[in-house]
Amino acid sequence: MTSNSEDAPSSLLLRGGTVIDGTGRDRFAADVRIDGGRIAAIGPDLAAGDAVVIDVGGKVVAPGFIDVHTHDDQAVLSAPGMLPKISQGVTTVVVGNCGISLAPLVRADVPPPLNLLGGGDGYVHPTMASYVAAVDAARPAVNVAALVGHSTLRVAAMDDPYRAATRAEQTRMGELLREGMDAGAIGFSSGVFYATGAAADVDELALLAGIAGDAGGVYATHIRQEMDQVLASLDEAFAAGRRGNVPVVISHHKCAGPANWGRTVQTLAHIDAARARQPIGLDAYPYVAGSTVLRTDLVDGIIDVIVTWSTPFPQMSARHLADIAAEWNCTQQEACERLQPGGACYFQMREDDVQRVLRYPATMIGSDGLPHDVHPHPRLWGTFPRVLGHYSRDLGLFPLETAVHKMTALSARRFRLAERGELRAGFHADVTVFDPSTVADTATFERPARAARGIEYVVVNGVLSYADGHATTQRGGRFLSSRPRSA
Ligand code: ZN
Repeated sequence: MTSNSEDAPSSLLLRGGTVIDGTGRDRFAADVRIDGGRIAAIGPDLAAGDAVVIDVGGKVVAPGFIDVHTHDDQAVLSAPGMLPKISQGVTTVVVGNCGISLAPLVRADVPPPLNLLGGGDGYVHPTMASYVAAVDAARPAVNVAALVGHSTLRVAAMDDPYRAATRAEQTRMGELLREGMDAGAIGFSSGVFYATGAAADVDELALLAGIAGDAGGVYATHIRQEMDQVLASLDEAFAAGRRGNVPVVISHHKCAGPANWGRTVQTLAHIDAARARQPIGLDAYPYVAGSTVLRTDLVDGIIDVIVTWSTPFPQMSARHLADIAAEWNCTQQEACERLQPGGACYFQMREDDVQRVLRYPATMIGSDGLPHDVHPHPRLWGTFPRVLGHYSRDLGLFPLETAVHKMTALSARRFRLAERGELRAGFHADVTVFDPSTVADTATFERPARAARGIEYVVVNGVLSYADGHATTQRGGRFLSSRPRSA
């Protein structure tokens, strides 16, 4: 695929489709006209003029989907075609989640979980401004909005990120974060679940979240623990958000491990009560398996575990940990240790919990896909069509209008992405056209790298980027900030 800065927005007329505008309101029949990178008009029988006319009869015309939870920081630079995302109808990715962002950090060899971003060779950006320039130069197929990661700040500011930070180190982290917000980041993320963040207390989180909040950003958090300590971990996140006076996003909400299955009844009631006091959003992906680095504390010998990558044993990718352990005549935990560094899918959730969280009104859709894994979790390629097809159409979990809302307007408002997430005249022309009768994920745990069915056209900033099941040669993405950049 080729691309350059010449990829200009087209004049397009999407004729005869059904508009689901992202707000959650009922669908209606209308044409959509796109001019100069913006939605020019929505209405019946629009004049074509000099626009390229695309017949979208029988199809849904929706705002482009916003993937609010990604680890695409490096992928947007190294694989700017972003096929796993554009093929799902995603037009914007939020990078830097779970405390892990590519910037600001210059380091040749990074500790886990920073290696989730594809090894150490990408950590070459001393500032967020440097990363923003790299995104603009790469011109990815999708828009990029960035969070500044807490673990990244700790690795940048401390000689040893596994201990409590000194006052001076916290001041340095704050300076780096402020630079990131000035350069256009939309918030701060933490992942105190991970060793590089775990030594931070709520004071440090509140201090840094508050800096993001002062600059108009959000605080997204992979909480300390999603198993028996899930309620206390939620409370810690709420406290950091309240003290920092910043909206909170609970990342990939779940109750993990068989002993905690069914407890989303409790956690969602708890979140509901907290939402009466402070702004809180959630994101979730539509699968019962999670995925992250290999960790023995996530291996209990009960749940199924599939290896997604392993540096010492690359041939074990895609294999079940139980089978590897049997072959090696050891416990699953011992096998897990020998396979590290690596990653895995953990079947740590139950279906009723997944559905309860997806249905919850404040829940946005985020894939949490890991683009550098050898054998990735299928959420990387399947999240958005799976919500539209499997959960909305086939299971009737919620109307299609609600499904679209959870991946568009709800997300744009929560992350303060101006003039996106809705089909409205004057807004940026990020548009996805899909067939509501066929849209479906085809990626599976066995064959994870497969493009969705039923995504017909994807337009990013007015640039037709995906058509007839293929990426076009044009890319229209750009770096987005919640506030206009001075440059
Ligand atoms: Zn996470």
